[in-house]
Amino acid sequence: MKNEKIDALLDDLRETLESLPDDGKEHRVEIQVGPHNSGYVAGGDQYILRVGPDEPTRPEASRICPQCQRSTWRDTRECVHCHLDLFAHDHAVWRAKERRRAQRSMIICIALGLAVIFFGQFLPKGMAGWAALGGFAFLFAGAVMGKPAGDA
Ligand SMILES: [Zn+2]
Repeated sequence: MKNEKIDALLDDLRETLESLPDDGKEHRVEIQVGPHNSGYVAGGDQYILRVGPDEPTRPEASRICPQCQRSTWRDTRECVHCHLDLFAHDHAVWRAKERRRAQRSMIICIALGLAVIFFGQFLPKGMAGWAALGGFAFLFAGAVMGKPAGDA
């Protein structure tokens, strides 16, 4: 039995497969046949051969890659398009944010500590010592908080 539609599809498929890069990676080839049949190319009017990366179709499983701005998997390390290491990227973003947060906390604590020490000297004798102690406690807390989480 000879079916020209199947022959044409097989020719196109062979051509498509031969055009794939020989890079040892996984490639996805999609065959979509006419809308009124599913999988049975002989009865369809046409078919579409598509080569492309396996990008997510469900929005809840996807994210926009920060490098190429295209849709890729949310929980997969590499972007399917540009192969950016998304985990490393996210970690770097988190680290930068954490550093800024730690710096803010440190500045607030040191400012409070200096203020308490400065104004403490105007307090009556018995309280001035405690104020100085409290001020130094703030300075110490500032030094501790200045170290961002995740740093060795
Ligand atoms: Zn990308």
